[in-house]
Amino acid sequence: MASYAGLIMLQHKRAAISLNLTKQSFDYSLRVSKRARHVRLAVKPFVGLEVVIPKRFPRHQIDRILQQHGDWITKQLQLHATSFNPLQLPGQIRLRLTGQDITVNYHHSQQPQLQQSGQLLTISHQQQEQALELLRQWLRQQARQQLAPRLQALADELGFSYQRVSIRSQKSRWGSCSSRGTISLNDQLMFLPADTVRYLIIHELCHTRQLNHSTAFWQLVAGCCPDYQTHEQILNRGRDLVPDWFLHSLYQPNRSSP
Ligand SMILES: [Zn+2]
Repeated sequence: MASYAGLIMLQHKRAAISLNLTKQSFDYSLRVSKRARHVRLAVKPFVGLEVVIPKRFPRHQIDRILQQHGDWITKQLQLHATSFNPLQLPGQIRLRLTGQDITVNYHHSQQPQLQQSGQLLTISHQQQEQALELLRQWLRQQARQQLAPRLQALADELGFSYQRVSIRSQKSRWGSCSSRGTISLNDQLMFLPADTVRYLIIHELCHTRQLNHSTAFWQLVAGCCPDYQTHEQILNRGRDLVPDWFLHSLYQPNRSSP
C-alpha cells in the first residue's frame, strides 16, 4: 500500500548548488541516525517536516538542501495542511459503516468518563486530550463490536474459514491475512461505507486460500464481489474519510502499538 507521508531520499554527495533566488524557511525536527546513509526528508501529517541526517553529516548544509527541495516541501506541507491545525473536539461523528451520526456533548468534570445513550455521547473531562482519548477508546470498542461479527457472517455466507481475528489501529493498511489464517482489520473501517468494508473483509478472506495477489486471487475476489474495483478506489482514498481527531494519535511519537 502506498505510503501516506511524503518522503524524499537524497544522495547528499551529489547535491547540486541551488539556483533558487527566493529563500524559504521551514520549521523542521532533526534526527541524527547511525544507520542513515543519506539525508532523508519526510513530511508527515500532524508532525510536519522531519529531517534525518547521517551521523557525520555537516549541519550547515541542511539549509541548502531544504532550499533545493523547497517546492516539494511546500507542496507536501500543503497536502497535510489541515492536520497542522489545532485539534478540535468533534461535535458530530459519522460512522459510515453503521450509518450512524453520533452527537457528542462535553462537560467539564474532575472525573473523566464517557456515556452513550442512543446516538448521543456525553463526555466529562478536564483536558481536551482526555476527551480525545475517551473518544478513541470508544471508537475502538465500536470497531471490535462491529467488525468481528461481520467477518464471521461473511465467512459463513461465502464458505471461508479463518483462525483468528484481530482488530487493530494501523497506519497504512486496512486489513491483512497471515499464513496462519489470522485476519487483522483496521478499526478506522468504522468511518468507511458498509459495502466497501464488506469488500475489504472478502479480500482478506480470499487470502486464506490465495496468500498473494495473483490472477487466481482476483478471480476469487470477483466471484464474491463483482464491483471490487470501485471499492479498491474508495479504500485508496479512504484516509480522507478518517477524521483528524482519530488519526492524530497514530502519528504521535512513542505510540504503543495496540
Ligand atoms: Zn491483499
